[in-house]
Amino acid sequence: MSDKKPENNETWKEKLSSDEFEILRMCGTERPFSGKYNSFYEPGEYFCAACGAELFDSNTKFDSGSGWPSFYDVLKTSNVKLIEDNAHGMKRVEVRCAKCDSHLGHVFNDGPPPTGLRYCINSIALKHAKDK
Ligand code: FE
Repeated sequence: MSDKKPENNETWKEKLSSDEFEILRMCGTERPFSGKYNSFYEPGEYFCAACGAELFDSNTKFDSGSGWPSFYDVLKTSNVKLIEDNAHGMKRVEVRCAKCDSHLGHVFNDGPPPTGLRYCINSIALKHAKDK
């Protein structure tokens, strides 16, 4: 059980925009339907907006109706880490970048086949290949 925020230092504050910092390093959440990748379905990989690690692929992206980019799988299991999150009176599983510990979103068990998972990810935490 941990609701510990990622380690922070001035480097991240200087490297990231204030919106990126709020979500990636302070575990914030962008408003639903506000993110640039919510209704975006171009082919290609998605990378961590903080460190550039490869995280998701467009061929696992689907429209969950939640207002956030949703994927039913990760590109490589080892590139994300899952943390039990009991904040806000909910029992959720937080998804972080394994390389830089940035907060990405949460994963739920109500996704489509073949995994049944729904990775609910902030657009601000991602960079699609065309925006790299
Ligand atoms: Fe990262």
